[in-house]
Amino acid sequence: MEIINRKQRMASIARKLRRESKTVGFVPTMGALHEGHITLVKEARQMSDIVIVSIFVNPTQFAPNEDFDRYPRDLTADAAMLAEYEVDYVFAPETSEIYVPGFSTYVYVDGLTETLEGASRPGHFRGVATVVTILFNTVRPDLAFFGSKDAQQVGVIKRLTRDLGFETEIVVVPTVREELGLAMSSRNAYLSEEERAKASIIYHALRDAKLAFKNGERNASTIAQIVEEKIASEPLARIDYVAVVSNDDLEPVEKIEDSEVLVAVAVRFGKVRLIDNVVLNRKQ
Ligand code: AMP
Repeated sequence: MEIINRKQRMASIARKLRRESKTVGFVPTMGALHEGHITLVKEARQMSDIVIVSIFVNPTQFAPNEDFDRYPRDLTADAAMLAEYEVDYVFAPETSEIYVPGFSTYVYVDGLTETLEGASRPGHFRGVATVVTILFNTVRPDLAFFGSKDAQQVGVIKRLTRDLGFETEIVVVPTVREELGLAMSSRNAYLSEEERAKASIIYHALRDAKLAFKNGERNASTIAQIVEEKIASEPLARIDYVAVVSNDDLEPVEKIEDSEVLVAVAVRFGKVRLIDNVVLNRKQ
């Protein structure tokens, strides 16, 4: 496994791999790796000849009041973990490698980015879309792996891949959870032990939504209410949003019919903001 810091070197290796007709699988991350990331890596390992993982805490996707400075960083531990899973290259650039001096070009995905996380975190998806574009341009992967925990991010990346003509297939991997149901996240490290245990209420609420749907409930606002009431029953939880939207365009739905519906939530526990979701009517 080679750790690469320079964008030029990453690009030249990527060119060589293409010449050799190797299938390149790419897993973009912000590090502080956990089982969720590793599941993406394992999937990439199975589907590709060469696996490249990027570790880059992307400043442009954090708002000024967010946790960019205190976001957990441990490249040594991350690299040791990735070596175990037979990753070929780790791309871990400095900020100035990605955002060159005088940088002024951003990628903005219209429509999809205005709701949910986009509404709560202005500028977030502009940062995500911009960095993913730079990374895709450098690595030119055949396959790129993303987690469905960040459902809106998946929608944004699929759209930009199509619109900008990247020849990259986006592979979506199901959410990996802790034993009690909390979705794994690098930010879980900020939770106290008590908060971490109590935060599993989020998953229980989403499971209640699935159950209600299975039992015939088709009214989106009733589903949302079930989720809200369950989460609100936990005194440490503060709901940012509960949304029941189309899984295609993230527009609100009233009646749930045949198409896939995303039930997405953002909830604060203390200073930590957690997101999670389930899909109703999942088409295989
Ligand atoms: P991050 O390092 O948080 O930017 O995440 C990097 C990638 O890992 C993204 O595609 C995430 O959606 C994915 N990911 C994060 N947490 C999980 C999880 N619990 N299960 C599956 N994928 C995840």
